[in-house]
Amino acid sequence: MISAQKSMAAFTSFSVLRDYARAGRIVARVRASPGISSYPSSINFLTANHSRRYLCRASATHDEEAAAKAAAINADSGVPTIFDKIIAKEIPSTIVYEDDKVLAFKDINPQAPVHVLVIPKFRDGLTQLGKAEPRHGEILGQLLYAAKIVAEKGGIVDGFRVVINNGPSACQSVYHLHLHVLGGRQMNWPPG
Ligand code: 5GP
Repeated sequence: MISAQKSMAAFTSFSVLRDYARAGRIVARVRASPGISSYPSSINFLTANHSRRYLCRASATHDEEAAAKAAAINADSGVPTIFDKIIAKEIPSTIVYEDDKVLAFKDINPQAPVHVLVIPKFRDGLTQLGKAEPRHGEILGQLLYAAKIVAEKGGIVDGFRVVINNGPSACQSVYHLHLHVLGGRQMNWPPG
């Protein structure tokens, strides 16, 4: 019972890490000098300098859950997501790593000084991790390895977090598998 409660707390806190820009769910306050980034970036607070102050205050409401539930409705319909447009370069993104299978780009609503999304270029049914099948083993490994490369490029390889939000109860909002690579500030546990 206690462990279930802890899991729920972790789940709730986990969701606080996420992007709630469209629903206005997260208030993030960032104090950092413009500066050094290993990535080609126009986001000033994306920095490898861990000594800089980064303050993030987050609050969540039920809107986030409602938005996630709405996003889940078409999850497996095959409808293209915003990430398909990013892959096709139809909408701009700041790409930090790319190979023939994987694309990594900065999250539009960063929850840490470094916040990069790592996605498979070919979705192949991987709308979410919970849809993974044995044939996905190779790409799942490639995504994790790409996360490590992204962490190195961001100067956070000594301390970073990889998050996958799976399904409405984890407030997944885009149904194209993606890893959040977060770092550049102290990460707490339980996550939040
Ligand atoms: P999820 O909530 O599904 O775990 O994560 C989806 C992530 O995609 C969010 O962190 C959100 O900020 C990010 N995102 C949504 N739309 C865009 C976009 O158009 N460009 C970029 N770079 N990130 C996006």
